[in-house]
Amino acid sequence: MRQATKKLLASYLDSLCPILYINHSDFADVDAELTRLAEHDMRFIEFNNALGALNFEDKHQLQQWDLAEFLNAVMDEGFDEEHELVIILKDVHESMNDPKVVALLRRIAEMTLERDDYRAKVIIIASNVVIPSELENFITLMDVPLPDDEEIRDCIHSFAEDVAVDIGEKEFEELVFSLKGLSAFQIKQVLSLAYQGNGRLDASDRKFILSEKEQVIKKSGILEMMNFKETIDDIGGLDRLKSWLDRKAKIFSSLDKAIKFGVDVPSGILILGMPGCGKSLAAKATSTLFKVPLIRLDVGRLMGKYVGESEGNMRRALKLSETVSPCVLWIDEIEKAFAGIGGGYGEVATRLFGHFLTWMQEKESTVFIVATANDISKLPPEFLRKGRFDELFFVDLPTERERRKILEIHLRKRGKLNNRINLDTLSKKTKGFNGADLEGIVKDAIETAFIDGTETITTELLLKSFEEAKSISVIQKEKIEALRKDLKKYDIKPASSEARESTDDGRS
Ligand code: ATP
Repeated sequence: MRQATKKLLASYLDSLCPILYINHSDFADVDAELTRLAEHDMRFIEFNNALGALNFEDKHQLQQWDLAEFLNAVMDEGFDEEHELVIILKDVHESMNDPKVVALLRRIAEMTLERDDYRAKVIIIASNVVIPSELENFITLMDVPLPDDEEIRDCIHSFAEDVAVDIGEKEFEELVFSLKGLSAFQIKQVLSLAYQGNGRLDASDRKFILSEKEQVIKKSGILEMMNFKETIDDIGGLDRLKSWLDRKAKIFSSLDKAIKFGVDVPSGILILGMPGCGKSLAAKATSTLFKVPLIRLDVGRLMGKYVGESEGNMRRALKLSETVSPCVLWIDEIEKAFAGIGGGYGEVATRLFGHFLTWMQEKESTVFIVATANDISKLPPEFLRKGRFDELFFVDLPTERERRKILEIHLRKRGKLNNRINLDTLSKKTKGFNGADLEGIVKDAIETAFIDGTETITTELLLKSFEEAKSISVIQKEKIEALRKDLKKYDIKPASSEARESTDDGRS
């Protein structure tokens, strides 16, 4: 635990705050600090889901109660002239929606605040945050940041001492770098697994550590580690966005040098715009360009139905992404985070937004954010202000030249580009089509050719597929118009330097 966190915990213990919610999965870490901070007039009593009531000091089971029974039984111990009762609840987030538990916690909090003859504090330590609305005003939420370099060094030192293993200076620093983003508990576990493998701790363990980190990501259920092949060359058009990413890639690939030189670490971009025009493709290409893994955050899965659940999930997801840093964290359809509970930007959205921005500003890890959004009207205007992200890009429907390039990319990718295809004719005709529509035409023509037994793809064949296809500009006409109108209100850089053409489908 960092010094600043220890100080914060000490001040909470001293304060009048009746319920402290510590979002942390390393219970031993918190126990050690609480033991250190305990005053002689404090009486600790512990509850965990598996064993019920425990003796905090020696962890002996006292009684197999459920949480409501436990709170019921111990709450009157707050009427003690000599001691302040400190009730420690571990991993009880599942029970935080039980009305009985909520009522009992509220009763304890109210008595603490209102009565002079009652002294009790509740400390909840849980890996997930669930705060029922009835308790919101009584709870102070405390986040425990992941270990910094200094703490990681301490963990490695103490592990190396325990198992009596020598680690070279260079290997030591490499281990510090690879272990970034893991909790102190996870670091100990990973070190011990790596050591058991070959009785050493050296550079060969880096790969193992990365695979352990992937496990952590997979288990979370909110983040997904993406596997794909796309590179920047798979994107047709969007030249401004591509050259911006190219510049940042040069920084990302020699980060240490860049930081020493005084360059700011790239922090992230927001890509807004029309559906099917390459936003997701750009997220993938960023990861290949930066040569780091791509982690996708599913905003839909983040949104929970209980107060605090979405925030808790967001905290967990952001923290987890640090586990695999350096990485690209792709937040797809970020607008969904702001239209969750109750619609509009309610309290939850505001807090989610606040937490996200603070994290973005304070993160020490090299997590590069690529946030993508279709519906700009659902985003808080502050989000679109300069300075939040390194840059904001607007992806529009492709121009004639860009459509030509996109068709070429998809035909070449499938080995079907030949001189019987007139790309000029096709790109002229496909006004109002997005990248996904164009890919659809290519796929359809190839399928037809296969079924008909035709060897070569021709302009005619592609035109036939075009005639049967409907462009996004027709299918989502109103949505696109609304998006254009919303965009006019902000000063957002177009991702492409090409002059825009009217978006009407050539046929309509
Ligand atoms: P949505 O907002 O609907 O998620 P998106 O902008 O993220 O859309 P993508 O998923 O990147 O769109 O595009 C869908 C598919 O269309 C891509 O897999 C790609 O094959 C094709 N495509 C879209 N835009 C382009 C482009 N500029 N160049 C090449 N292919 C493209």
